[in-house]
Amino acid sequence: MTKNVAVIRGDGIGPEITEQAIKVLDRIAEIYGHSFKYINVDMGGCSIDKWGVPLTEEMLDKCINSDSVLLGAVGGPKWNDVPSHLRPEKGLLKLRAGMGVYSNNRPAKIWNQLSDSSPLKKEIVDKGIDFIIVRELIGGIYFGEHKTENCDGIEKATDVLTYTSKEIERIGRIGFETAQKRNKKLCSVEKSNVLDSSRLWKKTMESLAKEYIDVELTHMLVDNCAMQIVKNPSQFDVIVTENMFGDILSDEASMITGSIGMIPSSSLGATSCGLYEPIHGSAPDIAGKDIANPIGIILSAAMMLRYSFDMNDEADCIEKAVSAFLDKGYRTADIMPPNGEFILVGCKECGKIITENLVKE
Ligand code: NAD
Repeated sequence: MTKNVAVIRGDGIGPEITEQAIKVLDRIAEIYGHSFKYINVDMGGCSIDKWGVPLTEEMLDKCINSDSVLLGAVGGPKWNDVPSHLRPEKGLLKLRAGMGVYSNNRPAKIWNQLSDSSPLKKEIVDKGIDFIIVRELIGGIYFGEHKTENCDGIEKATDVLTYTSKEIERIGRIGFETAQKRNKKLCSVEKSNVLDSSRLWKKTMESLAKEYIDVELTHMLVDNCAMQIVKNPSQFDVIVTENMFGDILSDEASMITGSIGMIPSSSLGATSCGLYEPIHGSAPDIAGKDIANPIGIILSAAMMLRYSFDMNDEADCIEKAVSAFLDKGYRTADIMPPNGEFILVGCKECGKIITENLVKE
């Protein structure tokens, strides 16, 4: 199979971690007989430096016309003072909206080998942490009207939170379909005791549930969910929620699994062309030092193979190679425990060892 992959290396550690994911993809192509063609796309600070804007129309078109997009990370202190509409992160919002990716999927999974890295108590971790948060990505309060006005000498700020039943239904379907591929448990999270948009959310989920009778649907208020994620995370299989709640809960969920450097994500819309990226940022504090953990982007590449290219064996192969890397005692600095017999490796070495561990079964 031949696939065109738009590759956005971005800023900070973006280029160095992306190189490792490409190494892994090249080896997968070799052993499974595929061909991945990479289309370089400038986005973020490097695009501001080159083109004056965080994402040009031409670069956005390259992404939309590819089979999938793989992204390192964008941003950094060098661009902190540019006008807000030109900030590197605006490129990311433009890309998500331009690609129409309305569903952001973030797994919260703890690797057995790294259970000591979780800030949670051992008895909670030992019950297992393996769930996915499906977050609505291009609606809700982030995309509503924002304004600040002066009313008789008092400043007043307004942010509008709107959802239509259509927007809720399309993300709800992703939630149900994701649960169907896993343990068939879907928890819909909202704030229906206070918000109208949440009452519509809950009603729409209940009506959708009639079409997915093999999935057990439960409802949870967002404040309780924030508590349950640290108290009893093993209860969750798939969580589906709106944009802002998902933003907050998915950061909380990433922390309980250990390092931010380990976690991949996918963003999908109506087509199979998805956006795949690690959940962390450009980590300017460690950029260029060859100490970043590339596993988040390598696992994002695995998600790309699974969800956009239907290459499940190839995705399994990458996940097993990551597991073998950890089994053999290798650790990057961010997942290195203070004591124990582990071998510290840098970003390049980590990518090389994972690539060598790829075995077709
Ligand atoms: P960050 O995720 O870049 O870094 C937070 C901490 O985690 C830092 O100590 C960093 O060294 C560490 N870290 C992150 N990724 C790591 C990895 N792969 N391996 C080892 N350690 C890792 O968050 P931040 O410092 O708040 O943001 C830095 C820049 O990234 C900002 O400009 C921000 O806007 C941008 N950002 C971009 C994205 C994106 O591109 N999707 C997401 C979040 C933040």
